[in-house]
Amino acid sequence: MTGTLACSDCPSPITRHSKGGRCRSCTMRKLNSGKGFTASRIAGLRKRYATDPAFRAAKTKIIVEAARRPEERQRRSDRARSMGLSELGHAALQGNEQAHARRGRAVSQTRMRHIPSGYRQLYRDLIRKNKLPAAEALAAVHAQHEADLRRFFGGSRP
Ligand SMILES: [Zn+2]
Repeated sequence: MTGTLACSDCPSPITRHSKGGRCRSCTMRKLNSGKGFTASRIAGLRKRYATDPAFRAAKTKIIVEAARRPEERQRRSDRARSMGLSELGHAALQGNEQAHARRGRAVSQTRMRHIPSGYRQLYRDLIRKNKLPAAEALAAVHAQHEADLRRFFGGSRP
């Protein structure tokens, strides 16, 4: 017996069965610092996610439930902000016209969801060209939408 063995990277004791001469936490740190290990682990997870419906359902449930908790949403939002993810996204859009257009449509869909989809250009025109305040433009768009519906249904709208 040689007494207590110590991890080669930190003062933690290790058992004589330890093969790498490191404690568990240092072994994981060492493994995680290697690119290949992370890549192969991600590949394994992707494969399992694609081929194992029960695994996929369980992971999806965890993700969906976490996304419903306001404090978790805030935590993710703060983290994304601290990592500068929006700047990364913005940089990725530079010179990519298709992605730029896709983003524009997605943003419109969210911000203009209270405006009927066929009337969003009219709303934009009223604001940009006719310089109407948003509330007036919205009222005008809704009036136009109502009038079009009446004309289309010929007054027989239920
Ligand atoms: Zn250690």
